[in-house]
This record gives sequence, C-alpha cells and structure tokens, in this order.
Amino acid sequence: MIGLGEPDPLTCSRAGCRETATWRIEWRNPKIHTADRVKVWLACDEHEEFLREFLAARDFPVAVKPVDETAAASGERTTA
Ligand SMILES: [Zn+2]
Repeated sequence: MIGLGEPDPLTCSRAGCRETATWRIEWRNPKIHTADRVKVWLACDEHEEFLREFLAARDFPVAVKPVDETAAASGERTTA
C-alpha cells in the first residue's frame, strides 16, 4: 500500500504507481474465496494489462471494467 500523502481511492494498485486509475479489476482466488467474494484492484491505462495478466496467469477469474461505471455508484472497498 502507498502510505504517503492523501489516500486517493482511484489510484492505480500497481506498487509504486500513483497514476489515476481508469480500470477496475475484479478478481478472486477460487482456492480461498467463495464465488460471491470479489476482490478489486484499480489500474491506470499502463498497468491494466500487467495486473490482469498477473491474475490470469494464476487462473483466477478476472473481470475488467471502466472505473467510471462504478466509481460514482458505490463506495464499496475491499481490503487486500
Ligand atoms: Zn499504474
């Protein structure tokens, strides 16, 4: 987690990246998460592919959505 400065709910989840996220990556680990448990990462344009591939390589179910679709609708956050 990024511990410096103001927390920005729309900051890219990639370590060290402080870009504004434009993608919302929803995923879960089938081995430890039930089907209704969804984790969320946020990603900027540059890291959306990296993070999605990172999860896909582990055979985790991944869904990528534009942040715009969900940001205003709910304040839902999940902790890593
Ligand atoms: Zn990024």
